[in-house]
Amino acid sequence: MLAFHTDIAVIGAGLAGVTCARQLAAAGYQVQLFDKSKGMGGRMATRRGEQFAIDHGAQYFTARHPDFIAEVARWLVDGRCAAWTGQVVQWRAEGQTPAYPEQRYVPQPGMSSLCRSLADGLDVALGQRLVALQRQEQGWQLSFADDQPAWLARQVLLAVPPAQAAALLGPAPELQALAASVAMEPCWAAMLELPDRLPLPIDAAWVEHGPIRWLARNTSKPGRTGREGWVIHATPAWSQQQLDTRAEQVAALLHAAFADLVDVEVEVSRRSAHRWLYGQAANPLTLGQVYAADIGLGLCGDWCLGTRIEDAWLSGRALAMAVQAAG
Ligand SMILES: Cc1cc2nc3c(=O)[nH]c(=O)nc-3n(C[C@H](O)[C@H](O)[C@H](O)COP(=O)(O)OP(=O)(O)OC[C@H]3O[C@@H](n4cnc5c(N)ncnc54)[C@H](O)[C@@H]3O)c2cc1C
Repeated sequence: MLAFHTDIAVIGAGLAGVTCARQLAAAGYQVQLFDKSKGMGGRMATRRGEQFAIDHGAQYFTARHPDFIAEVARWLVDGRCAAWTGQVVQWRAEGQTPAYPEQRYVPQPGMSSLCRSLADGLDVALGQRLVALQRQEQGWQLSFADDQPAWLARQVLLAVPPAQAAALLGPAPELQALAASVAMEPCWAAMLELPDRLPLPIDAAWVEHGPIRWLARNTSKPGRTGREGWVIHATPAWSQQQLDTRAEQVAALLHAAFADLVDVEVEVSRRSAHRWLYGQAANPLTLGQVYAADIGLGLCGDWCLGTRIEDAWLSGRALAMAVQAAG
């Protein structure tokens, strides 16, 4: 007998996993949510220091699907999220133009706070990395890293990036092949903490030349207090080239590229870098979710539909609906 049982185990407490778990729990299923990290949110991440916090993964989200528009409207009313009205430009070698005019939203006070608040009331186990799935007569045995106790679940729903899902899907070769078919592009993110406000007329830019793809003044987003912070995302190509470079060196390189681009001296009190090995999908699926009802195994995540936060929400919700429809 295993010590721990659950009806449904959801692996991954990013937006897809939290959305899926929340909907199933609301429908009366017994759900246990796991994540390998110490915190929730996955790629919706906030790095915190003394009087300083910065969103170093996803930067903002937009809403296009009517159901997501309605959900975001609820988040705006309850204060989980707010509209970000920062000055965003498209930056080409020949100059700047206003970025595509879309309403941009951010969770507040930081990116990771959305999943944390949505998971309120759910059973969540953090710091638990699933390392193996074994088929049992009545479901699945889940084994975790560091000799943590195993669990038995009737169904397992993986809400993790595709490479991490594929590594666990040995017992389900068809699902494994689907997950393995999606490639994720890396992204190096540099975080700069500044002693003073940078005198730039913009708050963020999509950059179309050089090693930088995106830059943003984190403190221009609602709910962000503390010292001025800028996040710099490198292009996938540059990130791939520098995949094995040390983080301190990457931070220095992107700091220099940023100063060069904005053409002002950028004095920093601290800088660091984070490598997103699985940043965004190069070739996402269009299925929305993948569910094998006969073996009680499902997949969701942004990569099942697209590359964005909205896709993660839609995918998590679609998988929950598939589980409910199967009874
Ligand atoms: C640098 C960067 C910038 C981005 N910018 C934007 C943006 O501006 N706008 C936008 O809409 N989207 C953006 N995105 C994409 C957005 O972050 C994702 O679409 C969304 O957060 C994906 O959510 P998810 O739940 O599918 O996956 P994730 O957020 O990746 O969640 C997966 C979770 O699974 C956990 N996990 C993985 N393996 C295991 C395991 N074996 N055991 C237990 N737990 C495990 C991870 O710790 C993680 O918490 C960006 C992404 C990156 C990396």
